[in-house]
Amino acid sequence: MTAIYSGRCLCGAIAFEGRGAPELTACHCTMCRRWHGGPSLAVRFADGMSITGGQDQVGWWRSSDWAERGFCRTCGSTLFYRIIETGELSGEAGGFDLPDGLHMAEHYFIDRKPDYYAFADDAPQLTGAQVFARYSMSEPE
Ligand SMILES: [Zn+2]
Ligand SMILES: [Zn+2]
Repeated sequence: MTAIYSGRCLCGAIAFEGRGAPELTACHCTMCRRWHGGPSLAVRFADGMSITGGQDQVGWWRSSDWAERGFCRTCGSTLFYRIIETGELSGEAGGFDLPDGLHMAEHYFIDRKPDYYAFADDAPQLTGAQVFARYSMSEPE
């Protein structure tokens, strides 16, 4: 049976769910930090995720040529990241009700991380150049 993880924004206007095993990644890039006020703690699910309520409450902002970011128009929660070409949706881990015992899978843009915070996990740390090489993208900045 596929596990289902539910989530919502702070005010409850938007509801969503992830299906299957969650995979957590941290992104330390300048765009994510400006958007969230800190690193992005993103979650992808093995069998995908969907917005199950309040679709009309989601504001979308296109942050690059390839992706857009979704937020709650009422409470401002930063919630979603969607690849435009494929429609692949990922979420921010903080919005989901996730069980204890999960571990970080990878860090992105570790070379952009400021000195004022550090994570204690031993997950692989990719630089910006390594991230762009993996996804065959060119850097926007
Ligand atoms: Zn909200
Ligand atoms: Zn980022």
